[in-house]
Amino acid sequence: MKKGKKLYEGKAKIIFASAEKNLVIQHFKDDATAFNNQKKANIEGKGILNNRISEHILSALKDVGIENHLIKRLNMREQLIDLAEIIPIEFIVRNIVTGSLTKRLGIEEGTILNKPLIEFCYKNDQLGDPLVSREHIDVFGWATLSELNLITDQCLRINDFLQGMFRGINIKLIDFKLEFGKRKSDGKIILADEISPDTCRLWDADTDKKLDKDRFRKDLGDVVEAYQEVARRLGILHEQVSNVRPIKFPKPTAVKIKKK
Ligand code: 5GP
Repeated sequence: MKKGKKLYEGKAKIIFASAEKNLVIQHFKDDATAFNNQKKANIEGKGILNNRISEHILSALKDVGIENHLIKRLNMREQLIDLAEIIPIEFIVRNIVTGSLTKRLGIEEGTILNKPLIEFCYKNDQLGDPLVSREHIDVFGWATLSELNLITDQCLRINDFLQGMFRGINIKLIDFKLEFGKRKSDGKIILADEISPDTCRLWDADTDKKLDKDRFRKDLGDVVEAYQEVARRLGILHEQVSNVRPIKFPKPTAVKIKKK
């Protein structure tokens, strides 16, 4: 598919026009940013991995009836997607307490929530993506209350599906961020953006080793190796990306069963 002009450049992705009116090309960069753009790096291979992982997850969600912007992956770094007007809200879904929730409310890191928590943050870098309420979203016209109900319902369904998918590959889904938009062709609200280790917290279920962007945020090293491990466990990447070493995990200790 021929790439048209650049329409938008974000921190980790670029959107280009395509030959089709209501479709655009989403390009995954290797750039990583954190803490409101204060920390920046180029992590070789990250864009390729996020493209593959997000394609895998969004296709699986489509198969279970959760509509989203993915049409198809075009190449190593690009996807053809529906053009959508993004709602300026980050929908955060949490299963286990960590990150900004610990800082904001002082709740102990690692606390397992008795049900998923959905938070809304206004997408605005200058303001540091502040937490907002349903009422802010309604009053400022970012989405209607009925659109919000539909989106929160989808957030919970996506969480259920992803938790199961990751549990199957021995990964705990701690929390994640979703974005939704209004599809240009028919005005329908659909899941957009990406779902990848850039937007989720993923911990190895045996060791709690972080397999996500926190490795970059917290200077833990082995960022691409961790993303590659997620891709490997999902069964979507058999070849190595660049020259990264496979990540080493301790062998699970055998459980001894006492003979009676
Ligand atoms: P927290 O609010 O604890 O910093 O983040 C909660 C979850 O949402 C984490 O999985 C984090 O990766 C994701 N998240 C929140 N804001 C952003 C953002 O601006 N960009 C990305 N890539 N992920 C975010």
